[in-house]
Amino acid sequence: MVLLEDLSNLAFVFDMEARFYTPTRDDAILCELCPHRCLIFPGKTGKCRVRTNRAGKLYADTYQQLAATHFDPIEKKPLYHFYPGSEIFSIGSLGCNFRCGCCQNHEISQTGVAGFPGLQELTVDQVVGMASTKSANIGIAYTYNEPFVWYEYMFDIAVEAKDRGLKNVAVSNGYINEEPLKKLLPFMDAFNIDLKAFSARAYKSFTNGELHYVMNALSLICQAGCHLEITMLVVPGINDDLDAFRRMTEWIAERLGTSVPLHLSRYFPRYNYQEPPTAMSLLTRMAELASERLDYVYLGNAPGVEFQDTRCPQCGALVISRQGYYISRKEIDRQGQCSNCGHKIVISE
Ligand code: SF4
Ligand code: SF4
Repeated sequence: MVLLEDLSNLAFVFDMEARFYTPTRDDAILCELCPHRCLIFPGKTGKCRVRTNRAGKLYADTYQQLAATHFDPIEKKPLYHFYPGSEIFSIGSLGCNFRCGCCQNHEISQTGVAGFPGLQELTVDQVVGMASTKSANIGIAYTYNEPFVWYEYMFDIAVEAKDRGLKNVAVSNGYINEEPLKKLLPFMDAFNIDLKAFSARAYKSFTNGELHYVMNALSLICQAGCHLEITMLVVPGINDDLDAFRRMTEWIAERLGTSVPLHLSRYFPRYNYQEPPTAMSLLTRMAELASERLDYVYLGNAPGVEFQDTRCPQCGALVISRQGYYISRKEIDRQGQCSNCGHKIVISE
């Protein structure tokens, strides 16, 4: 339950009423977009810093407000099994419902509109229009900060983008309630969801969130048939317990499927977290452990080591090789089968 910054200095607020909230007594509001379920009093924002109670109505402060737009390689999201080698128009706004101490985008994730003067005002039509200017672009990625906290804007863009034949991709922490997620899923094509640890205590201390809600979101995304990849930033002292990690890979294999790609990303000191970078030996050990249960395991932020390429889970043939974000297809035919043994490689395109 929450009360945050006073908005009396707020320079700009777009007038878009938020979805998923319930008025309570004395003009207070219960926001039901994410599991935090903030109780927000008049003039205050929720934990994400971008949903504000003004006179008993909840407003989405960042509707039509973007902090970043860029055409990125899809591999940068990272998505390795979704239109490999393509480009995607990537957009980000402000706010986040988590508080990760080593957030690499903290300048935009840990602030509201009053703390970020460089916002660009873009309508839904303008965003979809920008995405359509490059013929090689496959769609729109909602990324950089946590997209679920600008749900209304994301949702409206996704509906329009889908209508115009573009793909919708979200890079998210997966911290959202069932109802808004289920409403969004029919318009989405792919997700990369952070799974930050596999113990309730580590999740709470690292993010201020609860693991079981993220597990539930992962299951719903999978059941909806969206393409799913998972990223875990391996942070020393937070999620480097190998027993918990083994349980995590078991759970992914059994509940989501062995073909869900897992990206283990190397941590470097950032923001409020200044422990030394993750040891390469630990990352490699974790990748080996994960490979016992999962078909596609990758190491990120760790160039020049194993686990960059896609190999056929059945015969080990090199299917896609990667040099940074540059890919080249090897033993894979047009039907997505390994040309060495015929095994179906899980690739969405
Ligand atoms: S979306 Fe924001 S305001 Fe709503 S419950 Fe989550 S953190 Fe609170
Ligand atoms: S969930 Fe992502 S954007 Fe939010 S604080 Fe954590 S790392 Fe930053």
